[in-house]
Amino acid sequence: MMARDSLCPPAPTTRCRHTGFPSIASVLNAVLILVVLALFASAALSPLPAVATPVHTITLGAEVQSQHYIVQARHESVASSTLDKAERAWSQLAPHFGRLPKKPITIVVVEDSAEYEQIQPAPMTRGFATFGGRQIYLLGAQLDQEVVTHELAHILLGLNVRDGLDIPDWFNEGLAQYASGAQRPSLEFIYAATSGGFVPLPALDSIDALQGPNRDLATVEGLAVVGFLADTYGEPDLWRLVAHLATARSFGQALIDTYGRTDQEISRQWMAYARNNYSLFSASGLRFIGGFAFIVLALVAATLWFIRRSVLLARKVGEPSLTQTEVNAARALEDEWKSTHGSGGPAAFPAEDRRTIDTPPPPP
Ligand SMILES: [Zn+2]
Repeated sequence: MMARDSLCPPAPTTRCRHTGFPSIASVLNAVLILVVLALFASAALSPLPAVATPVHTITLGAEVQSQHYIVQARHESVASSTLDKAERAWSQLAPHFGRLPKKPITIVVVEDSAEYEQIQPAPMTRGFATFGGRQIYLLGAQLDQEVVTHELAHILLGLNVRDGLDIPDWFNEGLAQYASGAQRPSLEFIYAATSGGFVPLPALDSIDALQGPNRDLATVEGLAVVGFLADTYGEPDLWRLVAHLATARSFGQALIDTYGRTDQEISRQWMAYARNNYSLFSASGLRFIGGFAFIVLALVAATLWFIRRSVLLARKVGEPSLTQTEVNAARALEDEWKSTHGSGGPAAFPAEDRRTIDTPPPPP
């Protein structure tokens, strides 16, 4: 159930113009959105059992619409730029999925980080979506093209998986990251591969992306495995795998239908791929070692330069600038000027006289 902003009536096709004084408007526009559990629950990012979500407040003030989306945010500029990103995501992803939403997807941009924190399904997220549904929630402070495409991928993947078919969280998260162009974090992969962090697929299948001490593994290894599938078998086969999920008996059957290999065989290939590509002595590992060695050498060089400069400065400060003889000569010179020109001292000398003070007077 959702209460709408009174300044932005649900006119179906026109853009809401958000005008007026921001402070008053923000009060008027403070909308209580009753987020019913089921909305997130059946929803929550993945095909996992839903977690009860209490009612929360989200402040909204503007809404923009297109054929594919309804975007709500506090400010119209944010809603408009989010819609542009969402349309780019649609153009990129829609051709890969056989089934598309029949009604517009609602994107809610939560511009207040504290409000977002109350509704996110797990710590440190930037957005979440109803798997196979039509709801996306985004953290306004960290909104970019990648997160919009990522959440749309969850929506479209869920819509294209047969009812009742469980897919592992690693594939859901891995595909969303791969499709949104997420960088594969080589340092994290190298660390995982060398520390035994990567696990065989049957073990990865049971890892929950939202809960548990290893929940990050579903995301990190998920991206690595989907990247491995694309590298090894080609990206078109990755989308064929997605298409098989619409009818397959199980995720494992979809792997067999697509790649002609069981999940055990794919798992062995994956672990070998991880050893070859992400161990310390793989190409990525050696690049990392080289980069690390360069940084260490640069730090050592900078430290040596700093120490040498400090020593030189200390020596310079410690050296007497004038010998006692020179000081005595200067005082004698000053006395002589005082006796000749009065007691005003050097400050009272005319400019041309001051210039000559450093030059010893000619012998009488
Ligand atoms: Zn995700």
